[in-house]
Amino acid sequence: MPRRTEFTLYKPKSILNKHKRADHWFWSRYTAYPYKGCQHGCEFCYCREQKFSPFDNPDDFAYTIHVKENAPQLLRKSIARAKTDIIFTGDYQPAEKKFQLSRQMLEVCLERNFPVFILERSPLILRDLDLLTEINAKAIAATAFSLISTPDSTHYARIRQMERLAPPPEKRFAAMEQLALKGIQTGACMMPLLPELCDDDQNLESIIQWTADHGGRFVLASGLTLSDQQRAYFFQILAQRFPDLLPAYEKHYPAGKSYGAVGDGWRRMALKIRELCEKHGIKDRMPRPIIPGDKFTTNKRIVEILADKLYIMELERAHKSRLWDYRKAAWAIEDLPQDIKLIYRTMGLKGIEGIENIGTKMGKTVEGILSELMKEPPPEGRRVAGQLF
Ligand code: SF4
Repeated sequence: MPRRTEFTLYKPKSILNKHKRADHWFWSRYTAYPYKGCQHGCEFCYCREQKFSPFDNPDDFAYTIHVKENAPQLLRKSIARAKTDIIFTGDYQPAEKKFQLSRQMLEVCLERNFPVFILERSPLILRDLDLLTEINAKAIAATAFSLISTPDSTHYARIRQMERLAPPPEKRFAAMEQLALKGIQTGACMMPLLPELCDDDQNLESIIQWTADHGGRFVLASGLTLSDQQRAYFFQILAQRFPDLLPAYEKHYPAGKSYGAVGDGWRRMALKIRELCEKHGIKDRMPRPIIPGDKFTTNKRIVEILADKLYIMELERAHKSRLWDYRKAAWAIEDLPQDIKLIYRTMGLKGIEGIENIGTKMGKTVEGILSELMKEPPPEGRRVAGQLF
């Protein structure tokens, strides 16, 4: 008999996690989630790891949902004091139908003009298409769907066994299309690409093609991590359902190794994804959403370009010192309290070189990027007089 879901309502003291700067994947500065535990119960979910999970027993993760009943009120209070930037939020697991906290949190974001990013495995997000469209018009809403297969995938039936409580990928792609039709940026997160199940070229191309066909603009990919109790849990699932895969996983994830899908194998796959994205006309990085009225738009665009370059250099195994040059320059520009255009207009190249952690060599690189950006027309419909370029 299927296990019943239990809901535990509680009132946390805080909801908004503030990060020093936006990450280079989802471009979010804040995170705020209404639930702990997830009824989608994907067998590979890293949220069962001890550092993320409130549950000692990994089985409880999908069946005991902790509901932050005061999430919208807390969010309203926290963002009143926060600098406007993207909040990674929303959670459209079945609990959301009952508690509607994600919707209420979006209402707060709309009321306070805060941009949002939502990563989903459920088409229930479409229930809030009205709010997302409004937020997108005022502040920016960006989305992505977690997708590790399509019905055309070679190992589709097996992959579905690993996320069997989540809505099927066809429904996620259909939802992606609805969001794209409303002008909301969307794409696919191929996370995690399970070794031996999701990492064949046919599956990679199928997800990329379906994404492009449904209005997605990008895919992001990452491998599987298996730490502490989640490793034991996942191996137990493999032993029950696909014992033939155990030897390969023992090899990929020997005890004590959490990150199996890194190294040369991962690099080859990432380069293949890049090639397939070019073929299907989408990106293998998420375009950084431009927040209307943001006086740091140019700084943020430069950071995006540096981060994209850094990603390629990592794939091409550039020397570590070069990687650090780019990483530190991106951080320095993200942290800059002034618009870099003003610095350049008043002090020229010397002003850019003088920014901490930029220096002469990176200064020229940044100047080149800035000159190109200054030739670009402002993003359509988002111009604020005198603000952009
Ligand atoms: S939908 Fe996401 S959070 Fe939920 S179980 Fe799956 S991977 Fe984890």
